[in-house]
Amino acid sequence: MNLILVGPPGSGKGTQAKMMVDKYGIPQISTGDILREAVKEGSPLGKKAKTLMDQGSLVPDDIVIGIIEERLGKPDCKGGFILDGFPRTVTQAAVLDNIMEKMSLKIDRLINIEVGDEELLKRLTGRRTCKDCGRGYHVSFDPPKTEGVCNECKGELFQRVDDKEDTIRSRLKVYHGQTAPVIEYYKKKNLSRTVDGVGKMEEVLRKICDIVDRR
Ligand code: AMP
Repeated sequence: MNLILVGPPGSGKGTQAKMMVDKYGIPQISTGDILREAVKEGSPLGKKAKTLMDQGSLVPDDIVIGIIEERLGKPDCKGGFILDGFPRTVTQAAVLDNIMEKMSLKIDRLINIEVGDEELLKRLTGRRTCKDCGRGYHVSFDPPKTEGVCNECKGELFQRVDDKEDTIRSRLKVYHGQTAPVIEYYKKKNLSRTVDGVGKMEEVLRKICDIVDRR
């Protein structure tokens, strides 16, 4: 089962992908996570990506395509995968088709998680992450017991540079301009299904799983 999860920043697609990993036992492939790891390591790729990511722009297609090609070749992808954050442009979608064809594979479904811009702004400006264990919080919806401190490991909480309001607005603009056409691309192939991303995480997951299981 080869799936694509698409949604604007803050739609919860990363969280949903993680829950789907547990349910279906296939890996989540997040280009955002792979790029953030490269930035943390200070690799040449990370240095190139950092400025673009910090300002909410997309990293060039050839870089992310290289990352995806390498990742899809790993043995844990043999039984299927969940692409989270890729493809984000129509060019990436077309190249993914070629990669799939070369590997004699196909995409089974694209799931589009829909959330309005105002809700996304509320979610993202309040988002905080633990520096040490990576646990996520929200200052209003899921606050830590002590401000700025992780409940689990007492690590310091931080705000992603790209979760500042101006950057969020740029990311939303990029999403509507460059990523929304990817949904149309898969609609034409009758592979796209839309889920309302507002509501409890478990409810959204149930709606996604209904679509995947009905495939
Ligand atoms: P995410 O964690 O998915 O929100 O991704 C964070 C940032 O990584 C994005 O704002 C982009 O700068 C970059 N990025 C992640 N995936 C892609 C992609 N498929 N194409 C281009 N840039 C990407």
